[in-house]
Amino acid sequence: MNGFNTRAVHVGSEPDSLTGAVNPPVYLTSTYAQDAVGVARFSDYARVANPTRSALESCLADLEGARHGVAFASGLAAEDAILRTLSPGDHVVLGGDVYGGTYRLLTRVFGSWGVEVSCVDLSDGAEVTANLRPSTRVVWVETPSNPLLRVVSIAAVADLAHSRGATLVVDNTFATPYLQRPLERGADVVVHSTTKYVGGHSDVVGGFVATNDDEIAASLRFNQYAIGAVPGPLDCYLLLRGLKTLGVRMERHCANARAVADYLGAHRSVREVYYPGLPSHPNHAVAAEQMSDFGGMVSFTTTGDAAAARRVCESTRIFTLAESLGGVESLIELPSQMTHASTVGSPLEPPDNLIRLSVGIEDVTDLIDDLARALSA
Ligand SMILES: *Cc1c(COP(=O)(O)O)cnc(C)c1O
Repeated sequence: MNGFNTRAVHVGSEPDSLTGAVNPPVYLTSTYAQDAVGVARFSDYARVANPTRSALESCLADLEGARHGVAFASGLAAEDAILRTLSPGDHVVLGGDVYGGTYRLLTRVFGSWGVEVSCVDLSDGAEVTANLRPSTRVVWVETPSNPLLRVVSIAAVADLAHSRGATLVVDNTFATPYLQRPLERGADVVVHSTTKYVGGHSDVVGGFVATNDDEIAASLRFNQYAIGAVPGPLDCYLLLRGLKTLGVRMERHCANARAVADYLGAHRSVREVYYPGLPSHPNHAVAAEQMSDFGGMVSFTTTGDAAAARRVCESTRIFTLAESLGGVESLIELPSQMTHASTVGSPLEPPDNLIRLSVGIEDVTDLIDDLARALSA
């Protein structure tokens, strides 16, 4: 099998059979002419299938080591398609530190529909076991997590989930398949917000699910067209284009994030740095074993209060104050008032003076100078 970067560039992007174009055409069509009644060459309708979408699906599935990949209009639409396989009364075990929108979807949409949710520390095997019920159908892991960059052993949680017949879903948005491939470690389903590193340029919203389980794939495929949260062909093209540079971008993201984490760790106005690449990180050993590098996200608390943290976020000039992550440009945000505002008052509420950085691919000296200026402001 070819290496990751070769597959990222070529899978799904074979030269067009009609014209030889080296990039897949963007098929802007909603329907397909049929050769006879009920006889379509590719598909009968573009919600069901679109060739540009198929190209994206084959490439990202390949990079995750999956037989099946299903693309959605957003990360949350992808999560919704997975969770729609549940019934009222079913139970979900959720890692205690996840994307705020995942928590909101589970508690406020599926919760009001009768799905039960327990938030647990997935690095504590005894706590996981104590929370598994006969009705537990799904264990949901985000690793590294958002915004505290906690890391959980996928293999260990897979064993616990499977011992009770539950499905393990891993949100691989932060690591990407370049750094971590959950299916190889026992996960049943991988979900992505492709809005982040896969797209990589902050210009598209998308989601993706990968699996080797034929039955799960069939139900995802059904939900894709039966519910209809499909991405448009132009979005699929942008995501496929983003995938081609995923490896080189991730290398720079990781190198820059490590330098930023080291800088912050030595700064007297910084209380704590959360970065799995630091030997002081509580899950450093698991991260070093499970991931090929530690990613581009760094969170930290300052020695000051929430107002001081807010001033830091409002004082940078290169880091843009914005939600989201994973683009080539560096972003800064205050999770308790921005990305994680929906978790305030819940077990998932982050410290109010926690700052989250999505470290981009700019020159790292410029990024560090920018942080130095903001921290002294
Ligand atoms: C952004 C994000 C999501 C949600 O994805 P959208 O594309 O915004 O719908 C899910 N999980 C993680 C880890 C995310 O960062």
